[in-house]
Amino acid sequence: MAELGRLGLDRSWRRVDAPRVTRAQLERVHTAAYLDEVERVAPASGVYRLENDTYMSPGSLAAAQRAAGAVVHAVDLIMSGQARSAFCATRPPGHHAKPGDAMGFCIYGNVAVGAAHAMAAHGLERIVIADFDVHRGNGTELMFRRDARVLMADSFQHPYYPRGDFPERSGYIPLRLQAGEGSAAFRALWSDALPRLRSFRPQMVFVSAGFDALRGDPLAQIELEPADYRWLTHELRDVAEAHGDGRIVSTLEGGYGLPAIGGAVAAHLMALGDCIARA
Ligand SMILES: [Zn+2]
Repeated sequence: MAELGRLGLDRSWRRVDAPRVTRAQLERVHTAAYLDEVERVAPASGVYRLENDTYMSPGSLAAAQRAAGAVVHAVDLIMSGQARSAFCATRPPGHHAKPGDAMGFCIYGNVAVGAAHAMAAHGLERIVIADFDVHRGNGTELMFRRDARVLMADSFQHPYYPRGDFPERSGYIPLRLQAGEGSAAFRALWSDALPRLRSFRPQMVFVSAGFDALRGDPLAQIELEPADYRWLTHELRDVAEAHGDGRIVSTLEGGYGLPAIGGAVAAHLMALGDCIARA
């Protein structure tokens, strides 16, 4: 937020507070038992460890509810014509969360909750999810594995976290990057995938916007520059313009190289459009 302010982007974008997600909105992608557990264990003080990498502090439940609620609200703003695009400047991230488990800092599957809302509440039938976080969006992929309405393209460092099988299938396009690769490999992989996304004729495009493939990120070894995020965002907007009236919702996933990710987020926003939802 400091970097967006320094660049004046906080003035050119309309800022909207993120509401809390509802239980019914979460139940479209999560099990009732898991949702009960998260609410039950949320600590009033100290920290609670949900799984290996995912902790809850006293503020975590509200933050997670607003992170998922932001994506839902962004969908509603766009579908009601109040915005054409939105960026959810929220944490915790969401793309590792499974239907019945937290994973990898993620509590609720934010982008999946938003995509499910777009289909259930607004009747959309073709959704593209583009995940450029450096880690595989395994949770999102799992949630829509049997849903032909969703096509997901996912670039990630491999082999890396999380391990496991991820065969290419009709609804999932894995784009593997090796440690040390950078702009050229990233753009080549996405250039191959983009025509497939376009031919799916998505009515809305969602972006799992992680910035941990940025050069210097402490958790990964991919060497992207801010200009790579601007390039891909432009391309994804083109996909959204083709059949979805430009409808595009981006939500923050990972990215740990502070303050450097500010510049990458700014490059993403310059290519994206006109609304920030902030938890
Ligand atoms: Zn990540």
